[in-house]
Amino acid sequence: MSVFSDLVGQEAAVEVLSHAARTPAAMTHAWLFTGPPGSGRSVAARAFAAALQCPDGGCGDCEACHTVLAGSHPDVEVVAPEGLSYSVREMRQLVVDAAMAPLRRRYRIVIIEDADRFTEQASNAFLKTLEEPPPRAVLLLCAPTLESEDVSPTIRSRCRHVALRTPPTAAVAEVLVRRDGVDPAMAAFAARIAQGHIGRARRLARDEDARRRRREVLALPQQVGTVPGALTAAENLISAAKEESLALTAELEARELADLRAALGATEGKPAPRGTAGAFSDLEKRQKSRATRTERDALDRALTDLAGFYRDVLVMQSGGGAEIVNADLAEQVAAVARATTAEATVRRIDAVLACREQVGLNVNTLLATEAMALALRAG
Ligand SMILES: [Zn+2]
Repeated sequence: MSVFSDLVGQEAAVEVLSHAARTPAAMTHAWLFTGPPGSGRSVAARAFAAALQCPDGGCGDCEACHTVLAGSHPDVEVVAPEGLSYSVREMRQLVVDAAMAPLRRRYRIVIIEDADRFTEQASNAFLKTLEEPPPRAVLLLCAPTLESEDVSPTIRSRCRHVALRTPPTAAVAEVLVRRDGVDPAMAAFAARIAQGHIGRARRLARDEDARRRRREVLALPQQVGTVPGALTAAENLISAAKEESLALTAELEARELADLRAALGATEGKPAPRGTAGAFSDLEKRQKSRATRTERDALDRALTDLAGFYRDVLVMQSGGGAEIVNADLAEQVAAVARATTAEATVRRIDAVLACREQVGLNVNTLLATEAMALALRAG
């Protein structure tokens, strides 16, 4: 057992990280984890943090390992932007967090999720900490790629880079069976359609509603025949993303509210004490901006599925006999393939990818989705 055993299909990264954790001379204060969504960037950062705090380099069994992985170690802070990007206020808090001396003897670790969501101002506020790190501080940044639209060259040049790859389908299926007790056939199916996104594979394997939403999204290519059909399909896509996001956050939000009520002494039946309304509206604001982000992420995944569907269409149209990803929907894929040409399919894949790009920028998601649905319609 080791803290790295949940890092699926990332043998090369695990080797670098466990060596650094065991060899102080190989240690450096800033690391940048990159990898496609769902490859396990933040899982890797947390595992590394545990290995650094563990006297045995990440045994997976001791108190340090347990508390880091459970998110309750006093010297490991995980930060994520509350809105679509980090605010300067959040960045200042991060700088203060990093500067604290470790409460225990080892390291003071700050895990920075979504480091691609630094604004220029936030980036400037952070740079000094990165350039002159406080003693014992370790900064672990997570971002999708090394490209300059994700991470500024200045930040990149000051971090040691760990690249995670899209985990192989078989490795994802294996972990679903081993850790989550999923039936092997279901695990293989979910791993294949999730295309290397571990969290999504797990949800698809365990949640019938998540599977239903995927089927609804992938019905879109057959609904966009007319203008009204395309507009309805776009609306459905947005509401599927909302539903997916709600399923992901509802439980967390309820727990946060219960925790806040308990902290303020407003337990069962007792009203919240005077003067605490501000704390509740702060929480509500935070939850709302997180929901916006989760919704965009869910829409992005739906669009990824849709692009995958059209890639399957293209596979069938080119007739090479290669295996398709959405094998359970082979009939629908074949129907779309028969009705159009490979050239039109390539154009459609481009339309879906353009929409993904728009959704990643701060645009009106319904307008972007409608434009895409209309582009998917003709020829
Ligand atoms: Zn340990």
